[in-house]
Amino acid sequence: MFHVTEDDGELYAVRRFDEIADLDAFDHHLLWCEECQRQMVWTEQYLRMLRTALLEMKSTVGQATSPTPAPGPQLPTALLPRK
Ligand SMILES: [Zn+2]
Repeated sequence: MFHVTEDDGELYAVRRFDEIADLDAFDHHLLWCEECQRQMVWTEQYLRMLRTALLEMKSTVGQATSPTPAPGPQLPTALLPRK
């Protein structure tokens, strides 16, 4: 059974559709396969997190390096350590 590959999922998430080997099959599969829909949601969240982390890294260049925030519920800003 054909499932969306992780690579194709990432390409789809960043809208590089022309690099997906079989976009028609991909689209049709996504329409009905809940497993791959869930996978796509995760991929998009992961990429968004990655992008946010990269932006934060850029904006904190020159300051002390802080570890990448762990995925999970957001802490209220009041609980975050002040810089
Ligand atoms: Zn699937």
